[in-house]
Amino acid sequence: MESGLKGKTVLVTASSKGIGKAVAEAFAAEGCQVAICSRTRDDLINTAKEIKAKYDVDPLWCVCDLNKQSDIESTYNAVIKEYGSVDVLVNNCGGPSPGYFTDIDENDWNLAYEQILLSVVRLSRLVLPDMIKKNWGRIVNITSISVKQPIDNLILSNSLRAGVTGFAKSLSNEVAKYNITVNNVAPGMTLTHRLYELAVVRAKEQGTSHEEILTQMAKSIPMNRLAGPEEIASVVLFLASKLASYVTGTTIQVDGGYIKGLF
Ligand code: NAD
Repeated sequence: MESGLKGKTVLVTASSKGIGKAVAEAFAAEGCQVAICSRTRDDLINTAKEIKAKYDVDPLWCVCDLNKQSDIESTYNAVIKEYGSVDVLVNNCGGPSPGYFTDIDENDWNLAYEQILLSVVRLSRLVLPDMIKKNWGRIVNITSISVKQPIDNLILSNSLRAGVTGFAKSLSNEVAKYNITVNNVAPGMTLTHRLYELAVVRAKEQGTSHEEILTQMAKSIPMNRLAGPEEIASVVLFLASKLASYVTGTTIQVDGGYIKGLF
């Protein structure tokens, strides 16, 4: 079925690797104009080259630290200069430091707040005026299954992603009348660099190997395997597409059945 996304401009943040990169690829495959950003120039150049080779779409890339308001603004301005507007905003970010309450200090809290919640607020504030004028727009936030069931040793993620969920729900109510939808995709355990890092931390705690931890993680999922980043990306694509025109204010978990609750 037609996604209705061909020719739309899509800004995907934190997209040189992992889930963000897979999301950028999914939109490129639909014939969208894609802008990617992250902190490391070389990673961005490599990712942009890969996307160009696979999909014949030349993504705009911008160096952007999502903790910095000035970087967010310059990224947005670069996208506007190149493409004229942002039709779809996908708010992804790097994962915050792992840790229990006693491991995390005031500075960690501030950094995680800026990275996870404030970056979403800042980018939404930038893209919305034009979306309202066009009477069309899509905002999709990548959160985590931690919004359904907090994960041990990830108190920053558990706390701040709940904030993103509340923000998205409130915002969705305010902008629905302009044909703008705001939704969240909550990935379960997905095979990326981030999951590898978390497996290394957990392996140290438990005195085992990260391979063993990844195997245990897969076994805890009804589908008996970890997700591929492209399986998260396809749900983001769906939410941005015309197939999801009446879906707003919701969180879709993509977790192979990991969360056992009804909601
Ligand atoms: P990843 O580590 O593979 O990729 C993260 C991307 O974010 C990279 O491109 C990195 O350069 C970029 N990035 C990091 N900090 C940044 C910053 N300050 N500014 C701009 N870019 C920055 O991670 P991933 O697994 O793709 O995870 C993406 C998001 O999804 C994270 O927030 C993660 O916590 C969340 N998540 C991941 C999983 C999982 O199992 N992989 C599960 C649930 C939620």
